[in-house]
Amino acid sequence: MNFKSALNKEIFSVVSQAASELHLESYVIGGYVRDFLLKRDFKKDIDIVAVGSGIELAQKVSELLPNKPKVQVFKNYGTAMLRFNDTEIEFVGARKESYQFESRNPTVENGTLEDDQNRRDFTINALALSLNTETYGDLLDPFNGLEDLDNQVIKTPLDPDVTFSDDPLRMLRAIRFASQLGFEIDAKAIESITRNQQRIEIISGERIVEEIHKILLTQKPSSGFLLLHETGLLARILPELTNLNQVEEIEGQTHKNNFYHTLEVVDNIAQNTEDLWLRWAALLHDIGKAPTKRFNKKQGWTFHGHEFLGGKMVKKIFERLHMPLNHKMKFVQKMVMMSSRPIVLSQDLVTDSAVRRLVFDAGEDVDDLMTLCAADITTKNPAKFRKYHSNFEIVRQKIIEVEQRDQIRNFQPPITGEEIMALFNLKPSREIGILKEAIKEAILEGEIPNEHVAAYEFMLKKAKTIGLILPEAKLEILNDKPTEKENHSPD
Ligand code: ATP
Repeated sequence: MNFKSALNKEIFSVVSQAASELHLESYVIGGYVRDFLLKRDFKKDIDIVAVGSGIELAQKVSELLPNKPKVQVFKNYGTAMLRFNDTEIEFVGARKESYQFESRNPTVENGTLEDDQNRRDFTINALALSLNTETYGDLLDPFNGLEDLDNQVIKTPLDPDVTFSDDPLRMLRAIRFASQLGFEIDAKAIESITRNQQRIEIISGERIVEEIHKILLTQKPSSGFLLLHETGLLARILPELTNLNQVEEIEGQTHKNNFYHTLEVVDNIAQNTEDLWLRWAALLHDIGKAPTKRFNKKQGWTFHGHEFLGGKMVKKIFERLHMPLNHKMKFVQKMVMMSSRPIVLSQDLVTDSAVRRLVFDAGEDVDDLMTLCAADITTKNPAKFRKYHSNFEIVRQKIIEVEQRDQIRNFQPPITGEEIMALFNLKPSREIGILKEAIKEAILEGEIPNEHVAAYEFMLKKAKTIGLILPEAKLEILNDKPTEKENHSPD
């Protein structure tokens, strides 16, 4: 079969010419071919395999290209990369690989195209198109990858036990491709993943996380997580999640299965946000429930403090998987810690002050928090579902109103500590904290608006109650002109 139409970009004819000048065979292989045949959105990078030196081929290609792009050489891997028209083109020499048990880094020797196709992870990723003059566009498909594409199935080119045990990362890649493409994984491959699950331990956190990110970013992440669960991989990667997979009954009272609930929440949120970290928050929002679960006769099942504990567990997971311990982690923690707030609020009468407190605590992230909490409503009781969602709408509306009036989102105290110190001739002291806290509370409670004048008057009254007296001179000035900063509101 010939697919010349896949190769009408300038870069392919240049690679073809360079390879023939070097008397090499060259092929496009892997994701580019797969996605062309699937008519899937074209990916940015193109993988070229040369039967010979990939590095030399890359250098020759660069010479022949009009802008002579820089070639990045990765000597250790025997690969090279250059960028042309926004596309990354990777060059590798065809290779034969053999693996040692304890490492996913193989010993490599030069090989034929077939050797190279043998070392690929899946039949659909081993498809190659010839760039050689005589056979330009011919499909080389030794493992019937085309048929597997048609049947929408992920299969390994070799015995799956060999493919997965050689490089256990492929177990995660199988599940990731299945969820991205909506494909099934061949039954033998699933059995093999289950059998080889413990091999995942030799894979670094970074590589695992890369695949989890991709699964989380699919349209229906639950399909990937269910496969991870079924094969035993999830319990090894994120046991905090599989620990939620339980339903206990005491005295006829049960609680919901929080594992399946979590997967529903992740699918829900995937419909409303592309934000990877918000999706992580959905995945982890209930992890504190397994260790905090208790039963008592009066309340039934409780999970007191699960949000707080969950927040702490987030950090441990990020550490264990070598994820960045930066503002992204803090964001996920904050979402987990606050994950019950809007729902609790919307189960009751929604008061302005409760909404103000929510906005104060969530700050800039309040909209994300609302998105998370809306996704958290998975009740199958239609009346409850309607009630929660309509209360959520009220909360959303109130957030807008409160924000217009009081600008709580980026709360800046209307009176600074310096001002208070200057006014009362104070050094830094406990009283200043007391006054600032009282002003903040009065604003959140709606006793005063978030304005300088109102806050100033309130502060003077409060100061009296804690025995702070204005010096004489200041009192006089105050009586003449009340404040300079009228109607100050924070920006
Ligand atoms: P995407 O870029 O969408 O993830 P891709 O198939 O291009 O898809 P890459 O990770 O860029 O994925 O890999 C390029 C090609 O290299 C794959 O199509 C596959 O042939 C091969 N490959 C990548 N990783 C492995 C691996 N761990 N084992 C075997 N072959 C692999």
